[in-house]
Order: sequence, then structure tokens, then C-alpha cells
Amino acid sequence: AHVTEAEQLYQKLTSATESRCLLRKHLTQAIFDKVKNRKTSLGGTLAHCIRSGCENIDSGVGIYASDPEAYATFSELFDPIIKEYHKLPEKKALHHANCDFGDVNKSKLEDLDPEGKFIVSTRIRIGRSLDGFGFPPILTVQNRKDIEAKALEALNSFSEDLKGTYYPLSDMDEDTQSRLTEEHFLFNDSDRFLKAAGGYNDWPTARGIFYNESKTFLVWVNEEDHLRVISMQKGGDIGAVYKRLATAYKTLEEKLKFSRDDRVGFLTFCPTNLGTTLRASVHIKIPLLSATDKFKSLCEKLNLQARGIHGEHTDSQGGVYDISNKRRLGLTEYQAVHEMYNGIKEIIKQEKELAWRPSNLEEMFDHLTKAKSCKSLLKKYLTKDTFEKLKDKKTSHNATLGDCILSGVLNLDSGVGLYAADPESYTEFALLFDPVIKDYHKLKLNEPITHPASDFGDLENLGFADLDPEGSMIVSTRIRVGRSHKDFAFPPVLQSEDRIQMEQNSVEALNAFSGELKGTYYPLTGMSKETQDQLTKDHFLFNDSDRFLKAAGGYNDWPTGRGIFFNENKTFLVWVNEEDHLRLISMQKGGDVGAIYKRLVTAIKALEEKLMFARDDRLGYLTFCPSNLGTTLRASVHIKIPHLSARKDFKSVCEKLKLQARGIHGEHTASEGGVYDISNKRRLGLTEIEAVKEMVAGVQEIIRLEKES
Ligand code: ADP
Ligand code: ADP
Ligand code: MG
Repeated sequence: AHVTEAEQLYQKLTSATESRCLLRKHLTQAIFDKVKNRKTSLGGTLAHCIRSGCENIDSGVGIYASDPEAYATFSELFDPIIKEYHKLPEKKALHHANCDFGDVNKSKLEDLDPEGKFIVSTRIRIGRSLDGFGFPPILTVQNRKDIEAKALEALNSFSEDLKGTYYPLSDMDEDTQSRLTEEHFLFNDSDRFLKAAGGYNDWPTARGIFYNESKTFLVWVNEEDHLRVISMQKGGDIGAVYKRLATAYKTLEEKLKFSRDDRVGFLTFCPTNLGTTLRASVHIKIPLLSATDKFKSLCEKLNLQARGIHGEHTDSQGGVYDISNKRRLGLTEYQAVHEMYNGIKEIIKQEKELAWRPSNLEEMFDHLTKAKSCKSLLKKYLTKDTFEKLKDKKTSHNATLGDCILSGVLNLDSGVGLYAADPESYTEFALLFDPVIKDYHKLKLNEPITHPASDFGDLENLGFADLDPEGSMIVSTRIRVGRSHKDFAFPPVLQSEDRIQMEQNSVEALNAFSGELKGTYYPLTGMSKETQDQLTKDHFLFNDSDRFLKAAGGYNDWPTGRGIFFNENKTFLVWVNEEDHLRLISMQKGGDVGAIYKRLVTAIKALEEKLMFARDDRLGYLTFCPSNLGTTLRASVHIKIPHLSARKDFKSVCEKLKLQARGIHGEHTASEGGVYDISNKRRLGLTEIEAVKEMVAGVQEIIRLEKES
């Protein structure tokens, strides 16, 4: 029967093609066939071990041991999973050295956060299994009670500050349970991965928690492991936490016999905990670092794991994460704690760097100059000489060089790194802007910048075909332009009352639209969060989540003075005071570029009769970001190109076609399911109609390449 069960589970696992868990990766048909009939002497089967992973296809690991012997009985399956998780070499046999906490009295573990700015609390735990017992899937009520009784005997022998009381869960009222869980002391029965593995069988019988008066030393009985021994306290004094744990463990070790083997160390229910079983964690406030793209890979590189604030499989709250050592096997207790200690030091260092704010222009320049890895156009063209020539200049809106470069200085991973603080910045700071503009728009560096007069082409004879008449690849098409009111500054120096005045001027003009363009203005102020999120998710509205724009002052006084205007069927939209004063947008499902373009041009022409926009003979329409200058036109498709986008040369293909690929939720976001936002890259030095044609030709080629891939 257990073999049939395993076969059914395996069937489920193999059909879950989207699953990324280690179990699915390593449980090949050959290995499955080889081990499926085996049983441990306590009656543990393959079905016991793989149930959770097969029923939760979003598992990270997906396998638990039915009992200590399972690691040997099913070693062909466990070993590769264990090696991959703990980052051990594939070819080498597993071996784990004896327990070694080092000399805790000579510990060099200093307080990780003496100022108390980042670390909320520090916790180190180990897991232990009592020799002779199985793990949750095969434990009987009597087994659990026997484990509890043995544990209690040992726990009652603690003295001094480790002395405590045991509280069985079955005697504890619900309020106390939830409060203790909320405060991170107690466990509960809400982890569906553990649940599927039998972790909550006969809940809450024979479970409980032991703790000392100050709740700095705690022992969990019959949670995931027979015993979890925990030392924790507020703040970052990891040396004290570690010493307390090591001291407590000495006492336990004298009283109890634990299951252990020389290959994988102390035996635990979950293979991620084998070896030292030690997880040293901090609850740490890192709102800036955790919001960056590199956060995940940094943790991986430092052998750290990030969890949410209420433990494994929960979410972070307010930028607070649970960060701990990831590896527990193949190194000593001492080394595991130090791996975490060094990693957390680096995490704090990087968070501090991100929190840094320059106090003057010299500091900004210095910071940029020292940033070796920075590849932005700002860094490339802000030479010492240029800096000296521009550092004392000011525009009539009182904008300085600092206002233009702050975002690029604070975000060293910027592509451009430079924003204009007002329309006049483009002339006042031309020495810096010009080369950046030429580089971005691929103009010749030694020739002056020129931009043709606006030319929208002959709207009656556009000659664009529908890009995807079959409707199989293009989800939607969108064209937008940006416009700036002539007399108003850009976000870095825009005053709050000016933004409000400008909004009024804009809305008055927008309300004059008629026919297909007629619509309603919805200010962000007063719009419910749900409406905002839904409109953003549907690609109609903007939000305040772009850190580059944020650093440039783009979200100052948010959401005051911002809003969206749209017609009834949401094919014509205007963003007010997002990145630019105005963004005019025409969009619809499918690939009919001609219809979309015509609608947009009609709107632009109508609006230009009412409002005066900032324009310059050299640079065309002036926008906040130099990448949008000229036509300011970005024509994009959301297009399904799973094959082409997986090709290594995808980026260079786009580059060659003068196209830019973005993620599905706009600039600085990721693609989802092979759908990309593909648009013209150039906006300056060509006319509007040429920019659209460039995109049309590029997308036609992209479609051809996708069909061929
Ligand atoms: P473990 O693997 O150690 O059992 P979990 O992720 O299951 O860890 O979390 C167990 C509990 O420990 C949760 O309530 C979690 O919030 C708490 N916890 C983990 N690390 C810390 C810490 N550094 N400070 C306070 N509580 C913590
Ligand atoms: P822009 O530079 O035009 O403001 P962003 O990259 O900031 O563009 O994206 C703005 C919003 O427009 C995002 O919600 C994005 O998903 C949406 N968007 C862009 N192109 C399309 C398209 N072709 N179809 C649907 N939505 C789109
Ligand atoms: Mg846990």
C-alpha cells in the first residue's frame, strides 16, 4: 500500500512542471524505482518522506525524514538534496565533524548593532532528536508523551538564569498561545508544509514550551523536532546569546542521548537542519537594502537566508527580515555562527551605505568618484573639470547641479543618473547634460545636438498595419508623450503650491476635450488604495515605487497635486505630475498602432492650443529625464516572446533594432511569463512619425524572430 501511495504522490510531483523544489529536481524516475519499496526498521516509507513536497508544489526543499534511519535508507535521494542545500560538493561523500562550539569565554563575537539602529533581536536555536524515536509522520501519541517526559526530566535540572518552567500547550489558553507566538517565543500549527508532513498530528498533545523567567532561554518540545533549544534576547549581542546556548546545551547533553551520525551530524526531521542544526538569526530592519534587486543574490553570496518576520514561510513587515546562516552541515557550530556574524556585518554595512545622504556638492562628487562599480552616464561625463565649472551655477528656479545629480549619486546602479531640475537646467548645465544626452540617444559626441521640428506624419495615410492581426503575440499597445508646462520647475525644486497650481491649469485644459477624448480627472488624493492598486495593476496608473525617481524628488508631497484623467473606455489617459508634468497616453488591447497613434496626435494638437509647453530648438520638448527629450515619444507593445527573450543575444537583438525591453510593470520591473514591454529607444534627433516607424519595424522583426526561434 505504501508503494501505491508513493506512486500517486510521485505522479503529482512530476506533473507540477512549475515546481522548483529540490525534491522534484532530484527524485528522478530511476531513483524513485530504486528506493520506493524500502522501509526503515521503524516503518518509515518513501511516501512519509515526500508527502509534503508532493502536496505543496511551491516547497523549497520538499522532503522530510520519516525517522533518523531514513537518511541512510533513502540516501540516494537525500544525499544530493542535502549537498545542494548546504552547498557541499556533489562528488564528495558526506561527513560531519563532532559538535564544536569553540571556547565561548574567548568569543570575539561583538555586539552587531551597539547603537540599536538595525537589529531588533537575536536568536540562536539548535534542534535535537531523542535516540530511538521516529519523526512526526510515524510518531504515536505514546511516543510523543515519552519524548515529553524524558525532556522534562532534563529541563528540570537547569539552575540559575536557565532555570524555568514547562507549559504544556494543552493547558494553555488560546490568548496566551497567540500572544506568545506574536512575541516570537512560541510556535503554532500554521505551517502548511509541516502540516502535510504530519507535523501537527494529534495536535496539541504532548507539545509544550519551557522557558526561564526572562524568556531568554526556551525549549520547544515536539514542535518540528523533538527538541528545539533556543537562546534569544533583544538587540544584537550575539556573543551573549551564543554563550547562553552553548552553556545550556552542555547540561542537556549530559542528561539525554541524541540521535546522530558521522555523515550528516545530528539528525533532524528536515534535512535543511542536519549537522549542527544551528540557525543563528537576527530580526533586522533593512528597508533600503531589502528593496534593491541585489538583496536576494547578496544573501545567497553570503550564505545567508532571509525569512519573514514570523518565521519560515511568512512575509516581511515594514522592511524587517529574519536573516540567518543558511548552511548547517559540514561546518562546526562555531563556524556556522561566524558565517552568520560576518554576513550580518556586511548586510548592515550595505544598509548604512544606502542610508547615506550627502551634505554638500563636494561630498556628492566624491561619493560618485569613489564608486568603482558605477556605470552610469552621469559618472562617465561628470569629470573634475566639468564639476568645477558647474558647481556654483544656479537656474532662475534656484536649481543647482546637486538637484540634477542627487538620484544618480544615491543610486549608483542608475543607467543615466541625471535629471533636469527645471527646463533651464538643460542650458545652465549643458556641459554635463549634452554628452549624456548624446550618449543615451546615440548621437555623435563631437557634433552639436539637433532635433527636427515636430512632424506627426500624414494621419490619413499612416500605412501602419495591425502588428498582430491574429492576436497571438501582442497583448496591448501604448504610445505616450511627455509635456512640461513652460514656466514650472521639475520635481527636485518644484514647490508644493506650484504643483497644485499646475495641476489646476492642466485639469482645466483636459476638461475641454470632446468626442472620444472626453473624460474625467481623478486626483490621487482621496482615491482609495484598492482603486489605485487595481489601476496600477491593469497598467493604467502610476505609483510611488520607483527608487530612482524617488531620490530625484519625484514623490515629494506625494500624492498631492497628482492624478489621472481618462476617457470612458480607458483608451486615452493623461497622468498629471507623475514623472513629467503631463504624460499623454493612448492605449488599447491588440496591435493596432495606427488607431492608437492617431488618437494620441489628435489629443496633443488639441492640448497645445490651450497650454504653453517647454520646448527648445536643440532638444525638442523638454522633459524631466534626459532620456525622454525630443519627441518624448515611447511607443510600446506588451508582447509574448518566451523563446526570443530566453536567447542569450536577446539584449543585443533589441539594441540592434533600436528597441528597449522593459518588464511588464514598467521601467525597473521584471518580465512575467515571457511577456515584455518593447518600445523604441530613441526619442531625440528624429521626428514623431519616424520614432513610431522605428518601433513598428523593430517589433515586426521581433515577431519574425520569435516565430523562427
Ligand atoms: P526556526 O527554524 O528557528 O524554527 P522559524 O522561522 O520557524 O525558525 O521561526 C520560529 C520563531 O522564531 C518565529 O516566531 C520567529 O519570528 C522567531 N524568530 C526567529 N528569529 C528571531 C529573532 N532573531 N528574534 C526574534 N524572534 C525570532
Ligand atoms: P513610461 O516610461 O511610458 O511611463 P513605464 O515603463 O514607466 O513607461 O510604464 C508605465 C506603465 O505603462 C506601466 O504600468 C506599464 O505596464 C504600462 N505599459 C507600458 N507599455 C504598455 C503596453 N504596451 N500595454 C499596456 N501597458 C503598458
Ligand atoms: Mg520552524
